[in-house]
Amino acid sequence: MITIEEALSIILAHIKPLRSESFELADCLDRVLAQDISAPENIPPFANSAMDGFAVRAVDTRGASVDHPVPLLILEDLPAGQVARRVVKENQAIRIMTGAPLPEGADSVVKVEDTGEEKFEADGRETVLIYQEAVYGDHIRLAGESVRQGELVLERGTVLRPPEIGMLAALGYPRVSVIRPPRAAIISTGDELQNIEEELLPGKIRDCNRYSLSALVRQYGGTVATLGIVPDEKDYLRKIFSLALTTDLVITSGGVSAGKYDLVREIIPELEGELLIDRVAMKPGKPLIFSMVRGIPVFSLPGNPVSVMVSFLQFVRPALLKMQGKNRIQKPEVEAILVEDCNERTGRTHLIRVVVEIKDGVYQVRLTGPQGSGILRSLVLSNGLMVVPPNRGPLKAGTKVKVILIDQPEVE
Ligand code: AMP
Ligand code: MG
Repeated sequence: MITIEEALSIILAHIKPLRSESFELADCLDRVLAQDISAPENIPPFANSAMDGFAVRAVDTRGASVDHPVPLLILEDLPAGQVARRVVKENQAIRIMTGAPLPEGADSVVKVEDTGEEKFEADGRETVLIYQEAVYGDHIRLAGESVRQGELVLERGTVLRPPEIGMLAALGYPRVSVIRPPRAAIISTGDELQNIEEELLPGKIRDCNRYSLSALVRQYGGTVATLGIVPDEKDYLRKIFSLALTTDLVITSGGVSAGKYDLVREIIPELEGELLIDRVAMKPGKPLIFSMVRGIPVFSLPGNPVSVMVSFLQFVRPALLKMQGKNRIQKPEVEAILVEDCNERTGRTHLIRVVVEIKDGVYQVRLTGPQGSGILRSLVLSNGLMVVPPNRGPLKAGTKVKVILIDQPEVE
């Protein structure tokens, strides 16, 4: 049986990034940019005030202080979004708001906190007292100080996070070219399965894998076509596969163990698929089949609700991310201290569901209780997978262990 690492490298060797498409900016979060982005113009496009205050000529404020205020004549009010009508000349000022373009003639801004009384003279003219000498350029954001026209701002291959989305908006890109999201077909196999809307009949169980798998695909940037429950019948399976193979990847659950009704293994060659992986030395998740059928990767995952998700995290998640053009496809792994005895032991790599916490800057793990591959609660309670190599263990409390982080740990 091959190892987890060997299986992953076989899978990734068959996965290519999808092609790019133009998307509306609002739909580009977490997508990989497929074009270089240069700045068509300066940001900010014009010099403007960084403060609410008065646009002045620095020279007119020389020597100003609270004890010796300098009076300046106020020409007009300048809110953001408008352009001054007047030019600032000797001993004049314009009342300016944050973001308003610097008026012609002015070279600095005195913030409102550094000014005193504004008063109307007898002739109706308004003045302000300046309490603080301005230095040339004070409180002014220069045109192009954030981004220069023509500059390469974002490179192809960048993952678009909220700051990059904001930058693209600032540069005036309503659409950009990104790698399109992969579409996954999800199939649940098993005569015992029922839709969750229906009342449970004797001997039946609810199809939960469809929901956990859909959620996982969405969590890692894909879209989902759910094809429902397929009974353990070859004809039915064959038909549903021909539908599923119109997507970018197919994920099935169940039907890959050694039982009489586990038919997925037989179906793949009949569909002229190439069976590339059959079983992986891991627990849970041993019965995994990976094949390429008509150029489409097919992940046939085990049916147990825990196994299916652990297998997804190990194999489908990296494939989905690679399809999206991402480079960082491994979950973070950390070294942690096991805080309780663990009596599990197996000849395969054991991925034990654990709670990871950071206490005093140290990662600590404890088990989430019984580890059976059907005990979904072991995953519900967990935020990490402790990696125990084959035949290692039982492990004593205090042992250093390797942990794959599924979610952000709590910090204490
Ligand atoms: P199988 O691999 O088909 O033998 O399934 C292994 C175990 O997982 C059996 O106990 C199945 O009933 C269960 N199982 C399979 N598919 C699902 C599913 N979609 N939802 C919940 N349990 C499932
Ligand atoms: Mg089954």
